[in-house]
Amino acid sequence: MTPPRKLHIKSYGCQMNVYDAQRMVDTLAPEGFVETANAEEADLVILNTCHIREKASEKTYSELGRLRVAREEAARNGRDLRIAVAGCVAQAEGEEIIRRAPVVDVVVGPQSYHHLPQLLARAARNGKAIETEFPAEDKFTFLPQPKSDAIRARGVSAFVTVQEGCDKFCTFCVVPYTRGAEVSRPVDKVVDDVKRLADNGVRELTLIGQNVNAYHGEGPDGRPWPLGKLLHRLATVPGIKRLRYSTSHPRDVEDSLIEAHRDVPALMPFVHLPVQSGSDRILAAMNRKHTVRDYIEVIDRFRHARQDIAFSSDFIVGFPGESAQDFSATLALVMQIGYAGAYSFKYSPRPGTPAAEMREMVQASDMDERLARLQELIDSQQSAFNRAAIGTTVDVLFERAARNRGQIVGRTAYLQPAHVMASSDIIGEVLPVRIEGLERYSLLGELATTAPAQSARTAPSQTTIGA
Ligand code: SAM
Ligand code: SF4
Repeated sequence: MTPPRKLHIKSYGCQMNVYDAQRMVDTLAPEGFVETANAEEADLVILNTCHIREKASEKTYSELGRLRVAREEAARNGRDLRIAVAGCVAQAEGEEIIRRAPVVDVVVGPQSYHHLPQLLARAARNGKAIETEFPAEDKFTFLPQPKSDAIRARGVSAFVTVQEGCDKFCTFCVVPYTRGAEVSRPVDKVVDDVKRLADNGVRELTLIGQNVNAYHGEGPDGRPWPLGKLLHRLATVPGIKRLRYSTSHPRDVEDSLIEAHRDVPALMPFVHLPVQSGSDRILAAMNRKHTVRDYIEVIDRFRHARQDIAFSSDFIVGFPGESAQDFSATLALVMQIGYAGAYSFKYSPRPGTPAAEMREMVQASDMDERLARLQELIDSQQSAFNRAAIGTTVDVLFERAARNRGQIVGRTAYLQPAHVMASSDIIGEVLPVRIEGLERYSLLGELATTAPAQSARTAPSQTTIGA
């Protein structure tokens, strides 16, 4: 019997890439590959890349420089190290990658990684293999199911892709070009995946998609189902205790999604709803297709349906033409909403996007200063949100043993890490925890005997933040 070959995947960027990396492992398992966390012992290294900002895509080339040295070293030791580039840089740059980094054997776009075994075989025969088209077939139909032990090893919380691609064409964004048009997976297929995950110990699902609330997969009744209806259905799968979804667009928040937050207790009251800017002028230039007022109305609809709901967001500072006044409007919006956390980025021109042609670039020093001010405000909101949990009792889904001996770590409804001293038997359970302190971003507490009171479940963001 030939010994298994070792596969190391290095993923950059979004949750979708984390999920794709797992599915690449599943795709290569029948070919005799086993995953290793140690790149040095790998026979195949896959860089699962991100193209969203310039820094993210430049990382690919610096990593390929290191891999060239690793390959020479492996060859000296009689080993043949193969190298593949997957993900959005692969899609956007294709052959250019092999021109800049001839060490690469395979380049595969995000819609084609189910062809990895054939591409590796083709590269072994011909030296190189590239596939970056959007094939007509649905890759999900061809991906092998993960084995039970692989699911168990990945833990109690899992991602499931329900939607891919984007039709929004925000002027700054490469996603519609690298991931293609919006596609939703049929409800039955998603339910089958979820049952399999739940049977193997998964208790929390995050449904993912570039634009997840544009989901409209075909239901068992032959009609398109919105995300809210899918969430209702998944909440009935035995074993599933928590549901989440990411990332949503403010334009696609249908009433059925709001109703799901009201009616489905397993649906967590924490929504990532990127707004990008607090200025209508900039939102229009970004082609976001909504105004600040529209965004606030959407937030109000969520809050009306579920009092304890909290929000996170994405922001871009220094979009071309952003004035000091536009930026002040962003700070004002952050103050008004009160976030439990948010990501903020400096605008990065991406080749091929309309914004990359815009002239009025914001000076680098202004961008730095704006980013620092925005991050300071968001950090203060996040800290206030976390501090407000002290003294309350909250439900925690326990995930794994912590680095500190004897501690088990889990997550609250708002994804805050929470540590307690307990036995590992509680992994996979949702239990009430009395929160006693805070260490950086982690809550510290003790297992409680009583369930959280309704009042403790009111999101502090609405009262303590933003003033
Ligand atoms: N679909 C999601 C949405 O519409 O909000 C987000 C997708 S994108 C993977 C994640 C975040 O990256 C965006 O929300 C945006 O804040 C940021 N981003 C995208 N393109 C960018 C660019 N050219 N420069 C800086 N940040 C960017
Ligand atoms: Fe990119 Fe806009 Fe689509 Fe989000 S909605 S993936 S930011 S184009």
